[in-house]
Amino acid sequence: MTNVISLPQLDIPTTIAAGPGPGNTDVRVLARYAGAGLADHMHPDVLRGMVECKQMLREVMGTTNLHTFGVAGTGWSGLDMMFSAVMPGDKVVVFVNGTFSGIDGLTVRMKAATAEELAENALDPQAASVTIIDIPHGQSVTAEIVEAALSEHKPKWAAMAHWETGSGRVNDIEGFSAACVRHDVMGLVDAVSSLGVGDFRIDDYPGVHGWASCPQKGICCLPLTYAPVSFTDRYIETLKATGTRTFCHHPILEARHWGIIDGADVERGTYHRTHSAYAVSAFHEALRICLQQTIAQRAADYSFHEAALRSAVEAMGCEVTSDMPSLVVLNLPGALAGREMELVQHCRAQNFGIWPTLSEPVQVRIGILNLLNERAITDIVSRFGAAIRELGGSFDQNAVDAALQSHYGRAVAAE
Ligand SMILES: *Cc1c(COP(=O)(O)O)cnc(C)c1O
Repeated sequence: MTNVISLPQLDIPTTIAAGPGPGNTDVRVLARYAGAGLADHMHPDVLRGMVECKQMLREVMGTTNLHTFGVAGTGWSGLDMMFSAVMPGDKVVVFVNGTFSGIDGLTVRMKAATAEELAENALDPQAASVTIIDIPHGQSVTAEIVEAALSEHKPKWAAMAHWETGSGRVNDIEGFSAACVRHDVMGLVDAVSSLGVGDFRIDDYPGVHGWASCPQKGICCLPLTYAPVSFTDRYIETLKATGTRTFCHHPILEARHWGIIDGADVERGTYHRTHSAYAVSAFHEALRICLQQTIAQRAADYSFHEAALRSAVEAMGCEVTSDMPSLVVLNLPGALAGREMELVQHCRAQNFGIWPTLSEPVQVRIGILNLLNERAITDIVSRFGAAIRELGGSFDQNAVDAALQSHYGRAVAAE
């Protein structure tokens, strides 16, 4: 048996985070995390930092929503808060086209289930008031699909992932919002993988009343910081009318620590729960970086480098089925078909952190979060190519070099 009294310190290696997330945290963010002093959660500079974060977050998300702030934790923490307004018996339509929207659907079923439905199947309740619209893996949720479901079911809420990271698909947020407006449905959107990567303003989508994102993908702030959320006044009024059974993830109560009290911004927050000066500093720096680089420039950079990676893996004979700018989801070339999991494990064993899909069919996912330069993309391509060869596959290296060259505008190989 392990002697836990004398365990050595835990050393974790640096890997190339070339997956769907977590992304590579900026060194400036890590420096602020380690550089913050230990001040308590009611210290004036910590409270000022939180108020500034809230203000920067409104810029990053493109919103005047008063209730815009961070939820301590990960993406699911923000999503749990967003779905907290869904009460037992509420009619909800959820569009599912992959792993994450699938879990969103489970969350909604847990919230909307009656006590009897929850007791009957506690881990996977079948709530009669929830309709799950399943869209096949590899396809996007379209305006037509949303329109048809909302006009048929007329729910109180509709939920969708903006970008489904499981299958790497961009869903039609414009069509979703418009259908919600037409049918007077309150839209709830999982923007975990799109915020900080795509160029959009949430206020351009008036049918969406709740948004939830995460720290570690487009915002590049892994050191367990804050999941951005934003709620319209209508969402907050709806929540006030029904209440919700959570203290910790209560949208109105948690907002108080961020200086949002009784429907107004105040100069400093009041206690909701303990916040970490380290996390506040790191989050503050991550948001500063987003605004300095601008959301529009980051979005352009993601599209540019994703196109380079896509054409290089296609030149290796892979079939790309995704359309997300931060992630390439692919099937291996014919000769290696079916060995996707083996290839991913081979790469991960070398600290090259790519991912498989988490639900069927098994595909390879390669992400470029905060890897927005030619050197990083070329490194990913050469490691991925080496892995294909090590598994016995082959491809024309010249075609791969030419693909990269045509994107980056000069010879990448030393010829
Ligand atoms: C990553 C992801 C999540 C889960 O986020 P965590 O930070 O792991 O809690 C949820 N939804 C989508 C669309 C995601 O990409």
